[in-house]
Amino acid sequence: MSPAEPSTSAEPRSPADSPRVRFAPSPTGYLHVGSARTALFNWLYARSAGGTMVLRIEDTDESRNRPELTDAIFEYLEWLGIDYDEGPSYQSDQRERHREAVQQLLDDGRAYLCDADDNELAGTEMADGRAVRFRTPEGATVIDDVVRGEVAVDHAQLGDFVIWRSDGSPTFVLANAVDDADMAITHAIRGEDLLSSTPRAVLVAEALGATPPIYAHLPLLVNEQRKKLSKRRDDVSLESYRKRGFLAEAMANYLALLGWGPRDGVEIRPMAEIIGQFRLEDVNKAPAFFDIAKLEHFNGVYIRELDAEELLVALEPHLTSEDVPWPPERYRPDVVAAMAPLVQEKLRTLDGIIPQVDWLFLEEPTIDEQSWDKAVVRGKAAPEILDATIATLADCPWDPDTVKDAVFAAGEAHGVNRSKSQAPVRVAVTGRSVGPPLFEPMVDHLTREEVLRRLQTARSHL
Ligand code: GLU
Repeated sequence: MSPAEPSTSAEPRSPADSPRVRFAPSPTGYLHVGSARTALFNWLYARSAGGTMVLRIEDTDESRNRPELTDAIFEYLEWLGIDYDEGPSYQSDQRERHREAVQQLLDDGRAYLCDADDNELAGTEMADGRAVRFRTPEGATVIDDVVRGEVAVDHAQLGDFVIWRSDGSPTFVLANAVDDADMAITHAIRGEDLLSSTPRAVLVAEALGATPPIYAHLPLLVNEQRKKLSKRRDDVSLESYRKRGFLAEAMANYLALLGWGPRDGVEIRPMAEIIGQFRLEDVNKAPAFFDIAKLEHFNGVYIRELDAEELLVALEPHLTSEDVPWPPERYRPDVVAAMAPLVQEKLRTLDGIIPQVDWLFLEEPTIDEQSWDKAVVRGKAAPEILDATIATLADCPWDPDTVKDAVFAAGEAHGVNRSKSQAPVRVAVTGRSVGPPLFEPMVDHLTREEVLRRLQTARSHL
C-alpha cells in the first residue's frame, strides 16, 4: 500500500490525505527496544511519505505513570534522532473529552451502564461509581492490516467490553480510539501485542462515527530461543544499550531492520537513505530476531567510521563513569588519545575501551584467570622468560624496540617463538592474553619500575 492508495477497514480515505501517524507510548517503564522500533517505523513512514508524526503520551494509568519515565521517552527519541511534528500531547488531559464520547455512546444506545456486579442499570446518565460497557453488536470485524493482511474477529469473542471504569477513568481502548479519531490519525503503526485490542477500537471508533486508522501491526521481537523479548530474560531497555556504548546511529540503523529490509538489500546505511527506501508494505509479519551479535557488528562498523576526535568524544563518558575499575585520579585522557586509534578497529561497543586501557590506569592489572593459566602457568618456559625479561629490563634502554628484543631473545633461548614468548609478559603487565599492541604503550605510559614490579609479582606467584 502506498500513501496514494490507502485502504481501510471502514470508509475509504481520500487519496489526498497525507499520512498522520503517532507514537503513543504508555510511560510505565523505561523505553524498550520494541517501543523504540515502533517509534522509528512511524517516523520512517511519516518522513518517507511526507506525513506528520505526532507524539501522544498515553498516561491514563495513573497508578503506574512516573514523570521521569516520560522524560526518558523524550530523551531516547532525541538520542535516536526521532523528531515529531506535533505534541507531545498527554492523554490524561483529554479526560473530559473521553467522558463526552462515552456519554455519546450511552445516548446513542451503543453502550450501557453497569455496576460492579456486572448488572445492567437503567438510565444513561454517567456518574462516578458506574462502569460503562460497549454494546457489541452481532457480526464480525475485519481489519485489513497492512502487515498481517485481513484479520477477522467474530464479535462473540469480544462480548460487551468495558469502556469506562467505575473509578471514573476511560479504558485503554476507549481513550486510544477517541484520540486517534480526534487527532485524525490515518495509520496506527504499533506492536503486534496490541492486535487483539484492535477490533474493539475499531468498533468504538465506528460507533462514534469516526473512520478508524489503517492498522499496521509490527512483528514481535524475539530472542535467540525465538521467545518474545521479555524484561526479565533479555536486555531490552534502550538505556542499557546506550550505557554499554552503542552509538545512536548504529542502534537506529539496526532497529530499522527489525521486521523490514530495504529492497536493494544494503543494510548498513545512513538514515536518510533508509527513509528513501522505507515502504510500510514491505514490513513482514514473521517475528524479528533481536540479534545482539549483529547489533554489535553494526556498532563496530559505525565506531570505525568515527574520526579521531569523534571517537574520543564518544568514549569519554564510558571512561569517566562511576563504573570504571581504576581510581579516577589515575585516569589520563592523553593516554586514551594515544591508545584509541590503536584499538578502534576492534571495538564493538564503546565500553569495550575499558579492558584495552585499564592496565595503564590501575595500580595493579586485573589478572584474567584463563589468560594467566594458559600463558603463564602452562606457557612454555614462562618462568624463564619472565626471569630473563626482568633481568634485561632492569637496565636496558627504555624504548619499545629494545624491550621487545629482550623479550623475544628470552623466548628464543628456550625455543619459544615470538608471539608465544610475549604472552607471559603481556599477561603479567596487562592482565590478559589479548589486547592492544603491548610494547609501545607499555614503554610510553608506564614507568620501568611499574613494569618490573608487575613482572616480579607474576613471577613470585609461580
Ligand atoms: N500506549 C500503548 C502502549 O504503549 C500503545 C497504543 C497504540 O500504539 O495504539 O502499549
